[in-house]
Amino acid sequence: MDVGVIGGGPSGCATALTLRHWGHSVTVIEQTGYEKPRIGEILPPSVRDPLVQLGAWEPFVAGKPLPSPGFQSVWGGDDCQEKDFIFHPHGSGWHLDRASFDAMLAQTAQEAGANVLRGTRVISARAHGADGWMLALESRGGRLRCRARFIVDATGRASSFACQQGAVRKSWDHLVAATALFTGGGDGGTVGHRALVEAVEGGWWYSALLPDRRMVVALMTDADSYAAGCHASEDHWHRELAATRRTRSRVNGWSLLGVPRVVSANTSRLDRFAGDHWLAVGDAAMAFDPLSAQGVHKALDSGIQAGQCIHRQLGNEKTALKDYALRLENHFSRYLKARTYYYARERRWPQSPFWARRIGPILASWEAGPLKRRGG
Ligand SMILES: Cc1cc2nc3c(=O)[nH]c(=O)nc-3n(C[C@H](O)[C@H](O)[C@H](O)COP(=O)(O)OP(=O)(O)OC[C@H]3O[C@@H](n4cnc5c(N)ncnc54)[C@H](O)[C@@H]3O)c2cc1C
Repeated sequence: MDVGVIGGGPSGCATALTLRHWGHSVTVIEQTGYEKPRIGEILPPSVRDPLVQLGAWEPFVAGKPLPSPGFQSVWGGDDCQEKDFIFHPHGSGWHLDRASFDAMLAQTAQEAGANVLRGTRVISARAHGADGWMLALESRGGRLRCRARFIVDATGRASSFACQQGAVRKSWDHLVAATALFTGGGDGGTVGHRALVEAVEGGWWYSALLPDRRMVVALMTDADSYAAGCHASEDHWHRELAATRRTRSRVNGWSLLGVPRVVSANTSRLDRFAGDHWLAVGDAAMAFDPLSAQGVHKALDSGIQAGQCIHRQLGNEKTALKDYALRLENHFSRYLKARTYYYARERRWPQSPFWARRIGPILASWEAGPLKRRGG
């Protein structure tokens, strides 16, 4: 094959679809069969653009995602603010079942001619001289060896292939998400189809109605304070939920499915996004704070850019990988500024470790601003 894509999430599938557009042979190697629930269910209206570009818009709509007219936030004050998507050219945002969405993208890639190996792991990847890579794969059906001229690491936050090549992942914080699913609470009339973001002293919550009368509810906080809270009380998550002003009323009459699941949600990136015959894409290259709810859109966009870059690279354009890496560097700098701006809008708990870690240095630098200027 020309390209082996390790990971069949949004970024891996978008890369494969873009490469198929240019006629390259692509294999997507995905370790799961998309059977378990996945996180990241809220999509902005703007996601329509990359989905149309990838030829995935029609299957997306056929999957019946819930249209969302906007979102609510309690951030920077006690009032609940509403933001409507009404002025967005694409109208509504979307709430969806993420596992079905990812499976739909893999199916679309397969129908476009990509070879999609579900339930398959990479056991080893060896550089094969100027030819690229020799991969050993394993699935229930047995073992397989194949050659690829180029490898894409689309394994999400694990960035396992890039790390094996010596790239290092750097984190900006220790944000974790403790997420839970609720079910059965009616048609969502009381919840509405708007996601809610609610800041609290120890972090923030988000909640959103999903298809099939389910609701996702997540506490975003720092790993150390969540661990300390759970150590002090087995019911930590539920107590924190009960202490919210708005989120708790959303789950009235709903039943919790299982126990909250904790996953990493930090801002992190690789120290290099590409190397000899490989590049990283989506969360594997850089992962954003879920506050932006832009992860999937960015993953699709970065897959499109990666596909274009690999097409140029396979055509012997020498600057292709450099251009790709530069683009990601600029993107990450812009993202860090936006993240700072949003966290700095919440000043109600300057003493709380969660907020002090995020806005303490910013407030200090603002206070020092005029002095610095006087000093030249
Ligand atoms: C708590 C939380 C909430 C979020 N909420 C939202 C949201 O509401 N909206 C939004 O847009 N984004 C959200 N995000 C971000 C979003 O989920 C990610 O940005 C997006 O999933 C990145 O896509 P990806 O394809 O790069 O990686 P992933 O979605 O992580 O996909 C990686 C794929 O690679 C596979 N894989 C991993 N390792 C291997 C391996 N060794 N071999 C083969 N396959 C492998 C995995 O099974 C998976 O299919 C959220 C993130 C978090 C942590």
